[in-house]
Amino acid sequence: MMPKRSLKTRFLQLRVITVLFALLFLHAVITFFSSYGIYNYSHLPADVIETQLYKRTVPNLRLDGSKPKCNYVEVLQSTATVNNWEVQDKLDDFSAIGVENGAYIPEECNPQFSVAIIVPYRKRQQQLDIFLQYIHKFMRKQNIHYRIYLVEQQNEGPFNRGFLLNVGARAAIRDKFPCLILHDVDLLPLDESNLYACANEPRHLSASIDKFRFVLPYKTIVGGVLAITADQFVAVNGFSNRFDGWGGEDDDFSWRLSSHKLEVVRFPREMSRYTMLRHRQEDRNPKRERIMKENRQRGNTDGLSTLPFSVGTVSTHRLYTLVAVS
Ligand code: UDP
Ligand code: MN
Repeated sequence: MMPKRSLKTRFLQLRVITVLFALLFLHAVITFFSSYGIYNYSHLPADVIETQLYKRTVPNLRLDGSKPKCNYVEVLQSTATVNNWEVQDKLDDFSAIGVENGAYIPEECNPQFSVAIIVPYRKRQQQLDIFLQYIHKFMRKQNIHYRIYLVEQQNEGPFNRGFLLNVGARAAIRDKFPCLILHDVDLLPLDESNLYACANEPRHLSASIDKFRFVLPYKTIVGGVLAITADQFVAVNGFSNRFDGWGGEDDDFSWRLSSHKLEVVRFPREMSRYTMLRHRQEDRNPKRERIMKENRQRGNTDGLSTLPFSVGTVSTHRLYTLVAVS
């Protein structure tokens, strides 16, 4: 016959189970919040944004004395969300009025910004077809002079986003663009108030992405879409070229910015929403942490300044300037 358990042991067992459950619950709560990101991230107050913008154009931009300066307050104050998702199946069927060789100059007024949108790319044709149509439609409403640089990696090696961005930035800087917007091909801005311009400090645009439940994953993140002046990009020696495969290059770049005392700014959340087109997670580069550590010891010796001289063949297409990297 089983000995009858005393009241005391039963009570203790109950306590152990309760404590166990409490611990499990606490663990769940902590992991939930720690992976939740920052909902109320710090940002430029909406009313000072206009004063923090980096107003520069390419030096050879032809201005027309009979036209007024373009006004950006209206764009910044827009509350409209993009709701027109229509894209043509074939890029050829998309007519981008006013766009030539991937560039556009506003007609009604003299723009105060020239911006190079630099897109690292390989084998994401479907996303590219959507992106090009979407971004041209979006940009044409902003009264900004812009050009799209598509930097295509044309080999089968591991994808190197940092290297491609360096090559694209070098091409845009040669064309005298004062402001660079580094842009993933799969991110589409949703808020018309998200002015595609540089600020006086580097500016992280994609602060609120649907894939991350519209919260900022972590404070130092600069991946996705980042606007930086050409001078700042040169000052930090661009990206490290050493990150083959997914990950690391953006956090390394974030460190380069802070080590040059550049503080990343953002627009408020309701101006910074994006949708990310679906794709599978690329294979992570297992060496990324190690390379990041090594880079910190060496300083920023590798980057824009160590790009091979001849890499990047520029050709123009209707909707973009192609920078081919092989
Ligand atoms: N990319 C690409 N082809 C690839 C991998 C990456 O064109 O095979 C480009 C593309 O612009 C993409 C960006 O690099 O948006 C970042 O890669 P990914 O979207 O895989 O990064 P994640 O969304 O995981 O941060
Ligand atoms: Mn992506």
